[in-house]
Amino acid sequence: TPLVGVLALQGDVREHRAVLEQQGARTVAVRRPEELDGVDGLVLPGGESTTIAKLADRWGLLEPLRAAVRGGLPAYGSCAGMILLADRLLDAAGNAIPDQQTIGGLDVTVRRNAFGRQVDSFESEVAVEGLTGPPVHAVFIRAPWVEEAADTVQVLGRVSGGPADGRIVAVRQGDVVATSFHPELTGDTRMHRFFVDLVRERS
Ligand code: GLN
Repeated sequence: TPLVGVLALQGDVREHRAVLEQQGARTVAVRRPEELDGVDGLVLPGGESTTIAKLADRWGLLEPLRAAVRGGLPAYGSCAGMILLADRLLDAAGNAIPDQQTIGGLDVTVRRNAFGRQVDSFESEVAVEGLTGPPVHAVFIRAPWVEEAADTVQVLGRVSGGPADGRIVAVRQGDVVATSFHPELTGDTRMHRFFVDLVRERS
């Protein structure tokens, strides 16, 4: 049974653990570097990415997390988790924010709170490559999008329709996966199953 670490500094940790365990994984809350020992995969929850990054820095977790992802540990981030996995960040207005630390691992530029102030949250159907069945009912909460992705990054899903039509909201690069939306909140378990299957293949 694969062991998946869930970064547990802030955010919807409990929801991710519940879905991962439904998929047959064991989970461990990661708050200290030692808790990364022996994990087969890593999940970065939704929440507030500045808070998570600051806490990770303060607890001496940033470098161990970077090393783990660089070393090939499969990782999945939703929303704030996508921000944490991005190599480069923009604020909502499109200005670079190099002072916000990330774990990195995805050769993408991610724009925080990208969907605009008026649109605190919205829902939309997103066809995600690699998932069988109907499009995912995607819930976006003050969500980021991928502004730019390197050629080495596989685009798994885009918004279709509305003002954000065509925006990239699901990506994969090697064993690092990220979504702008929160499958852990909707009862659709396919995204987590996809990730747990990936972790199983690697462990
Ligand atoms: N807006 C949050 C951030 O920038 C992400 C929101 C979320 O995870 N639901 O970190």
